[in-house]
Amino acid sequence: MAKNHVEVNADLCKSCRVCVETCPKHCLEIGSAINALGYQAVRFDSEECTACGMCFYVCPEPDVLTVIKGDV
Ligand code: SF4
Ligand code: SF4
Repeated sequence: MAKNHVEVNADLCKSCRVCVETCPKHCLEIGSAINALGYQAVRFDSEECTACGMCFYVCPEPDVLTVIKGDV
């Protein structure tokens, strides 16, 4: 039974924060780890995600965020 969540391909994130500022449920934050490009990648940490897809649509980098619609 999966919950709504977002998978982050952290090594492609450029830490622009657009998704962080856009998510209405505050599910995304800038992490402390440095990725392969030298940026602090976004991380998903929330039980509140509605799988609305807004983070996916605003992210300027392809293939970073994948929104998973859960079944609970
Ligand atoms: S899918 Fe919607 S609620 Fe979930 S992290 Fe993205 S913007 Fe936030
Ligand atoms: S919008 Fe995309 S590139 Fe920018 S911080 Fe979020 S995941 Fe990273």
